[in-house]
Amino acid sequence: MSGVSDMRVGDGTTAVRAGLPDPVKYEPTLPGPVFAAHFHLPGEPTGPYTYGRDTNPTWTHLERAIGELEAPGEPVETVAFASGMAAISAVLFSQLKAGDTVVMPTDGYQALPLAHERLRSYGIEVRTAPTGGDAQLAALAGARLLWIETPSNPGLDVCDVRRLAAAAHDAGALVAVDNTLATPLGQRPLELGADFSVASDTKGMTGHGDILLGHVTCRDARLAEEVRLWRKVVGAIPGPMEAWLAHRSLATLHLRIDRQCANALALAQALGERPEVTGLRYPGLPTDPSYPCASRQMRRYGGVVSFVLPDRGHAERFLAALRLVDDATSFGGVRSSAERRGRWGGDAVPEGFIRLSAGAEDPDDLVADVLRALDSAATA
Ligand code: PLP
Repeated sequence: MSGVSDMRVGDGTTAVRAGLPDPVKYEPTLPGPVFAAHFHLPGEPTGPYTYGRDTNPTWTHLERAIGELEAPGEPVETVAFASGMAAISAVLFSQLKAGDTVVMPTDGYQALPLAHERLRSYGIEVRTAPTGGDAQLAALAGARLLWIETPSNPGLDVCDVRRLAAAAHDAGALVAVDNTLATPLGQRPLELGADFSVASDTKGMTGHGDILLGHVTCRDARLAEEVRLWRKVVGAIPGPMEAWLAHRSLATLHLRIDRQCANALALAQALGERPEVTGLRYPGLPTDPSYPCASRQMRRYGGVVSFVLPDRGHAERFLAALRLVDDATSFGGVRSSAERRGRWGGDAVPEGFIRLSAGAEDPDDLVADVLRALDSAATA
């Protein structure tokens, strides 16, 4: 194998070689995207490649790569999706049926309540509890699935995945972790006891803000098969071009994430010095309430910082004054972005709440731009 799944190597080495096929003379290192709705298939219709909604060689390479990052050296299975929500829905709707109970975070990604409504309409009980303080523990009795999002978006609370997963398994529930914010370089949910590691790869995993994608990784082949079958039924498949671009992007994952984490920490430290900033959160800041738990289970703390400015006007002036940080939603890209999260209306956050995603710019430039924008917003 050209991959490094059977060697003990660092994250950077894993990332640059993840999912590469065996070298073949005159073939490229990473084969190009395969655009095919169907494949030549005389005789019995057996795989690996039959119809384009079921399988595609470009997905196979990407799925192997993600699996090597999620669980180095372990035989896991990954299923790639057209978006993070497609991946989330695949776990929820392939695992839950009428009469089941699912425990979700109250403070998770803002589209989750749309899934709650749909689940309830199918006769599934949805209980919610906050991420912080491992509050989901108290809601587990009789549950079939525990859904964790840590660090949570946008509040950046962290829960103890090992503790919650052990309690959920004792209660007979499966455990899924939305690992979008951390990426597998920041946290490995399967190692911490989860049954499903789920992510929007639209964010840090692909990191250029130009594709939507998602994935689910499992140790248990039966669970992976159920998720894969859901993809086939719903058809939420990644395009070959997106899958190929994602694989290409993974080669720089460690470089991007390391820089973005360093920039996020530098920004958090600088923001912590400002009197107009309250509610500052970054799980990698030793003074953050999440730090003790995050430092036990995370390997990198992510590129997102959140904080509160005095009011909506102050926050809007700040965003307008930034020059190196785009006023845009989403996070995890190489170009820094920030937004006033309250503008969407879906998160329980103050009007002046800012979610800032640190990009891969030079740290001094980024910090200077943010401090200058804060000065400008304060005097306007
Ligand atoms: N999970 C988290 C934590 C997210 O932040 C997002 C999107 O922002 C999603 C899932 C959904 O991902 P996508 O937009 O790729 O469907």
